[in-house]
This record gives sequence, C-alpha cells and structure tokens, in this order.
Amino acid sequence: MSHPDASAGFEFRAATRLVAGRGTLARLGELARDLGGRRVLVASDPGVARAGHTAAGLAALAAAGVATDVFDGFGENPTTAQVEAGTAAARLFRPDLIVGLGGGSSMDCAKGINFLLSCGGTMHDYQGRGRATGPLLPSIAVPTTAGTGSETQSFALITDAASGRKMACGDPRAAFRVAILDVELTLTQPPRLAALTGIDAVSHALESHVSRAATPASRIFSREAWRLLSAGLPRVLADGGDVRAREAVQLGAAWAGLAIENAMLGAAHALANPLTATHAVVHGQAVGLMLPHVVRFNGGTCAAAYADLAADLAADLAAAPPDRIATWLTRLLRRAGLATSLSGLGIERPDIPSLAAAAAGQWTGGFNPRPVTADDLAGLYDAAR
Ligand SMILES: [Zn+2]
Repeated sequence: MSHPDASAGFEFRAATRLVAGRGTLARLGELARDLGGRRVLVASDPGVARAGHTAAGLAALAAAGVATDVFDGFGENPTTAQVEAGTAAARLFRPDLIVGLGGGSSMDCAKGINFLLSCGGTMHDYQGRGRATGPLLPSIAVPTTAGTGSETQSFALITDAASGRKMACGDPRAAFRVAILDVELTLTQPPRLAALTGIDAVSHALESHVSRAATPASRIFSREAWRLLSAGLPRVLADGGDVRAREAVQLGAAWAGLAIENAMLGAAHALANPLTATHAVVHGQAVGLMLPHVVRFNGGTCAAAYADLAADLAADLAAAPPDRIATWLTRLLRRAGLATSLSGLGIERPDIPSLAAAAAGQWTGGFNPRPVTADDLAGLYDAAR
C-alpha cells in the first residue's frame, strides 16, 4: 500500500482557486465581486484583528464597493455554540459571500457558519463527509497562519460545546472558492504560533503521504509539501523575518491541505484529538508530540515512502529512515520550545486507558497505513510518556 496504484482508480479534487503573492490581500474586494459578493461576512478572530489584518481585509472589500460585517466571537477551537452565534449574526446581515480571515479557527468558523446558514440544522448534522443538503454560499479564505491547510480543504473542525469533542464536518461544497496566500499576513505570527501551526502542516504532509487513502495525485502534493516544509520550517524557527522561508511554509501548508482533502490523515491525529479534548493540549503540540512515535510504529509498513522523505533531511541523523524522520521531528519540537513527552504536559500512565479508548473512536485512525487497535494506541501513548 505504500505505492498507491493508479490502476486501482482514484479521484482527485482541487476546488479552490489559489491567488498567491506578496500584497495579494489588496485583491480581496475584486475577488469577492468576481464571485458575485456584494454583502460579505468576515469571520476573523480577535487576535487577527489586533494584528491589523482584519481591518486591511475590510478596507480591500470596501474599496470594491462591498458591504461588510465582522463576526469575531470565537477562540482557538471554535465551538458549536460559537458557530451558532455567528450564524444568528449572519441571518441578520444576510451575506452573499463569506470570508474566513485568520488562522484555522477563522477559516473553520467561516465554513461552519456557511453550513448552518445555507443548509440549516446543527453542526452535528454535517459530521463526516458530504452531508450538505444543497449549495453553500461562495467563500474566500485568507490564512494568516501557515499550518492547518483549511484554505485548500473542505473540512471544518468544530468542537462540540457539550462534550469538548472535535467534529470534522466536510463537504466538497464547503471548500473555499478562492484562497489568498499573501505571505505578509504570516510575518506577524508569534514564534510559538508559527511553530505550532508549522508542525501541524508537517504532520499533514507526513500522514497524508502514507495514508491508506493516498493516491498518485495526492502524493504529488504531500511530497512537495514535505520538501517545502522540511526545508522551510527550521529556517522560520531560526529567523521569523525570513520571507522566502515563510513563503515555503505557507505554500507547503496549502499543498498539504490539498493532500489531506484527497488522502485524509492517520494515527497521529487520532492520538492528538483526545489530548486536545480532555487535556486542552493545543493541536500542533499534541500531533507533533505523537507523530515521531507513529512514524516508528508504521516503520516497515511504508519503508519506501519514508526512505524517500528521509532523503530530504540532513545526513547526520540516524540511518534507518523512520528513525531519521522521528529524530528530526523531536529536534524540531525542542527547537520550538515545545514538550516532547506526555509527562512534560502533566499526562501520566493512569490517563492512558481513557485516552486510548477515545483515540480508537477517531475516524482518522482508520487511514493509518498500519492498522491500529486500542492496545496499539495505548502503546503509542505509553511510548510518548
Ligand atoms: Zn492537524
């Protein structure tokens, strides 16, 4: 399975028009009008507004004669209640286009509002894939972080306000029609945020590349994402002002989003989600911490793919490709000042059984190249202790 076979047949979907380049935020108004936008709702979290990006986006829309309203009532992991509040605000404003301007949370919130505004119901109705009941409003993504890949895929990650569980709600009709990749917006990311989102992007490239659902087409994007991210992210961590490296990471994250749209993820995401839900570990930290252990666990199941990816890394690392990748990941976490063990986050052995049970219920684990049982998942948490 580590060599996806074109003769098995596959589909490839790329629904989003990419507009990449320095200063392209200025084209937001023109691009909105191209899609028929006259009244635009902008979902933008308060941190992005503080950095001035929301105001710049609103100015670009106003310059094109577009009426705007902003929804900012959400935080790092938008909840069902927050998306409902945004939808109520949208029903009053009656937008004909939605913009997600910010990090993954802003883009996911924009998609969530679009589901409820266009199709009614609650976010629970859209869990999984392909459950929209009709067309959604056209939408535009303007990412200000480089990591989640939400700009190039059709899933919204929305947290159930009651249980804390993350729900993946995807439908091809929820994909952004346009994504603006303007590197200037990513330059203001604080170093910790750049590390957390960048490591998430690395995990998307790695997991989608060896996923059971990978195809010859998805692998073009996961491979190139890994090349850009493995070279660019260490440079961004060393010097946040390195614009070329920021561009590489921004593009790598977008390609990785396209790869996961078509190939899904794996066990590191299955293991990370319960850490976020029950121990409030931020996603990039959780997935980055678990990923080296998953790479070692998968090892020989995808030896050829790992050998190919390891060839991009510095030659002084341990010889076997899975170890080489895992060691590189752990060094990256350390360089970013992130925890490399569960105990470093206050999570100990008694926490493992309930975490493993929750991880076993994660849809994404089913795409891991080596099948994972609840016992395997407990073993992976134990290895990360
Ligand atoms: Zn992720």
